[in-house]
Amino acid sequence: MISVEEALAEILRHVHPLPPEDVPILESLGQVLAEEIISDVDIPPFDNSAMDGFAVRAADVAQASSGAPVRLAVAGTVAAGYVARSRVEAGTAIRIMTGAPIPEGADAVLPIEDSSDAERPKEERLSDPACEIEIRSAVVPGQNLRRAGEDLRRGERVLAPGVVIRAQEIGVLASLGRTAVQVHRRPRVAILATGDELVDPDEPLTAGKIRNSNEYTNAALVRRTGGVPVRLGIARDTAGELSAKIRRGLELGADLFLTSGGVSVGDYDVVKDVLGSEGQMQFWQVNMKPGKPLAFGVLHGGVPLIGLPGNPVSAMVSFEQFARPAILKMLGHRDFTKPAVRAIIDEALMSSGRRGYVRVVVTRRDGRYHARATGEQGSGVLTSMVKANGLAVIPEGRGGVEAGSELEVQMLDWPEGMASLL
Ligand code: AMP
Ligand code: MG
Repeated sequence: MISVEEALAEILRHVHPLPPEDVPILESLGQVLAEEIISDVDIPPFDNSAMDGFAVRAADVAQASSGAPVRLAVAGTVAAGYVARSRVEAGTAIRIMTGAPIPEGADAVLPIEDSSDAERPKEERLSDPACEIEIRSAVVPGQNLRRAGEDLRRGERVLAPGVVIRAQEIGVLASLGRTAVQVHRRPRVAILATGDELVDPDEPLTAGKIRNSNEYTNAALVRRTGGVPVRLGIARDTAGELSAKIRRGLELGADLFLTSGGVSVGDYDVVKDVLGSEGQMQFWQVNMKPGKPLAFGVLHGGVPLIGLPGNPVSAMVSFEQFARPAILKMLGHRDFTKPAVRAIIDEALMSSGRRGYVRVVVTRRDGRYHARATGEQGSGVLTSMVKANGLAVIPEGRGGVEAGSELEVQMLDWPEGMASLL
């Protein structure tokens, strides 16, 4: 039986970043940049004021102080979005707002707080702009100015391929005048449940039937990882039905298949057989618990298929170890590692000797992480995942783990609202 690492390496060998496509910048959030972004402008495009105040010639106010104010004639006003109509001549100032272009002749901005205008209410300043002001402090040339190009220079490389796009990258793209950007396409992940026992959530539970939960868990996991789930529904346990569904998925443009169930040693476990007829199986069974019955193959035409186990917990654990990295690689990501912490195990854990993944609750006490198993660990007990926020990883060859020892714990999710764990 191959190890988790060998299995993952084999899967990743058959999976490649998808080609770039143009998307509107706002749609690119969380995707991976597939082009180099070079600035074709200076940002900001012109010297502008960093303060509300007065554009002045620094030399005029070099001696100003609160004890010895300097008087300047006010020659006009310039607001953000406009250009001053006149120059700042010696002995004059132009009232200026944050972001407004620096008028010609001026070389510094004096904050309004350092002038006599500070005492006048805003309404009065607007209705009756002073024609003369007292300046009560000195400024040096360049003070309170934002220089053209201080954020970005024309010709400068801003973003490199491989960058994961966040809000700030989208803002930079907008400030460069971009409306669309090239990112690696999101993979279409075909999701297929197998089993004669399965019925959909809106159907009655008749004798011997259970509800198809894996299709929904898998679709949600695919979406959370950044892929586009393409749901193919339930295939009965016959080679014919499974083959038909796989062909349907290929017609729908699947980049990856995720099946669940049908990969054990039972009489009706047909996924392996169909992988052999519709493509080539690369491996079956991985040295882990839960999740041993995992099959991986490549369909004729090159589309990979990950055959997840049927047991709902096994399917999820296997998704995190194998399908998640495959989807991330297709999305163009370069780091596939699952965020993990080192945690103290509060209660002894049993292990089978295979690589173990134990559902745990991670908490933080006195600056250290602690993990405790979520009770019943049966691979069909999906509520053990509901209670968990992590998977403690027990290395191969261990019969158990003593209380107080330390293990790596993969964090299942690390979303908003979990800041207390950081
Ligand atoms: P299998 O590997 O097909 O024998 O499935 C193993 C176990 O997982 C069986 O108890 C199945 O009933 C269960 N199972 C398989 N597929 C699903 C599914 N889509 N949703 C919920 N349970 C499933
Ligand atoms: Mg089955």
